[in-house]
Amino acid sequence: MAYQTTNPYTNEVVKTYEDATPEYVEESLAKAQKLYLKWRNDPVSSRIPVLHKLAQIFRDETDSLAKVLTVDMGKLIGEAKGEVILCAMIADYYADHAEELLKPRAIESIAGEAQLENHPLGVMMAVEPWNFPYYQMMRIFAPNFAVGDPIVYKHAAITPASALAFEDAVRRAGAPEGALTNLFLSYDQVSDVVADKRVQGVALTGSERGGVAVAKVAGEHLKKTTMELGGVDAFIVAHDANMTDVKNIAPRARLYNAGQVCTSSKRFIVTENNYDEFLASLKAAFSSVKMGDPMDPSTTLAPMNSKRAKEKLQAQVDEAIAGGATAYYVHEPIDDDGQFFMPTILTNITKDNPAYGKEMFGPVAQVYKVKDDDAAIALANDADYGLGGIVFAGSAEYGAELASRIETGMVFVNTFFSSLPELEFGGVKKSGFGRELGQSGIFSFVNQELVVKRDHPNEDETGGLVLAHKF
Ligand code: NAP
Repeated sequence: MAYQTTNPYTNEVVKTYEDATPEYVEESLAKAQKLYLKWRNDPVSSRIPVLHKLAQIFRDETDSLAKVLTVDMGKLIGEAKGEVILCAMIADYYADHAEELLKPRAIESIAGEAQLENHPLGVMMAVEPWNFPYYQMMRIFAPNFAVGDPIVYKHAAITPASALAFEDAVRRAGAPEGALTNLFLSYDQVSDVVADKRVQGVALTGSERGGVAVAKVAGEHLKKTTMELGGVDAFIVAHDANMTDVKNIAPRARLYNAGQVCTSSKRFIVTENNYDEFLASLKAAFSSVKMGDPMDPSTTLAPMNSKRAKEKLQAQVDEAIAGGATAYYVHEPIDDDGQFFMPTILTNITKDNPAYGKEMFGPVAQVYKVKDDDAAIALANDADYGLGGIVFAGSAEYGAELASRIETGMVFVNTFFSSLPELEFGGVKKSGFGRELGQSGIFSFVNQELVVKRDHPNEDETGGLVLAHKF
């Protein structure tokens, strides 16, 4: 396994890193376990200042932290800065809310004075992707640090500098040794760590392929998991949608982060009365992008993360066309060696086309024409995935009605899809299970320990009968 930064704009190999040695892995797990044993007895409040400090570091060092992302995986520098700021917001959110969220919950019960206490679960293993290298880490780190779960993590092989920069920021924020440890692991080593009896939880964000592999090992060892996987999110243009808003949002919903977002709109499902107007506007937007140096703030479309990803997407587009799809629009080639993928619009994708229902992770829009809103919902639901979605409709209320009929984890009505600290993030079907962020996100790796107390055994009629056999 080669952990390596190859700048996708210049194709320069910036740095290669060695895999973690077995000794370092063992040492890291031992430190994490030792910290867990300590943290079990420490109050949540003892960890809060570190999260606020971490947020401050992300705010103070936005520019330098953002550059690491852009060199590692090519995203536009403006989008990289946005990611850094979002990380600060997530750290602050859990710093502000963790104590309240994690306080014991009293339960009224005939058994006695009952309460549900939230304790750390233990050491966690996180496996994270390259498309938002800091944000994905912060989604896991901030809530679970507040809970008291130490984390070891394997980041994507192509974003090692981002992995190290995140670890370094956490250390500088004052987190104790063992709180968060980056490990450059091979897949086999990931399996070994997941199997290790000190590890109690496994969180993976990535593709269905990666999710299946890691969830399988976790399942064999009965480890709790969350899986945040891919999607083929629908962008529904209902019959009465405001087309000015649609035209403004649709291109961004596909091209943001060079189309490499799990919740990018990948299937535009457009009612027939709006179809021609929609296609023309999407084509105009796709043809006006400015590809170039992602460090240049005037660039509007970044290169893809790697040569491999570009080749995979090209193969998918070729296969779709060979299967009968129409390449309604392909951006004219540009004279640049960076890993740019020409924005492409595919239409006439039939159910038997290999591209139907497949995630295309880059600047390629699939556009479908449907006769009405019911047909749009039916097509949106005809997918193995269910992560996010966008609906544009004549009113927020009608849009929300349509949204509720989509089998998916998250939907935004009449607006851009955004991830924010307070909003639960996660999917259904092959998009995975569990939630990150928001209030739910903090409970994924918590031991919700029930404690029932009273001064003497419960011998009243109901309690004795229901709760315990009398011998
Ligand atoms: P990926 O190939 O599954 O990689 C994600 C992480 O899993 C990487 O660290 C990868 O390591 C690791 N991995 C993959 N196979 C593994 C195995 N057999 N054993 C151990 N580790 C393994 O995903 P990707 O293509 O990089 O990321 C893009 C995908 O992530 C898309 O499908 C996207 O939709 C999804 N995603 C989902 C969310 C969400 O929140 N739902 C967010 C972002 C992205 P290597 O890099 O070393 O291969």
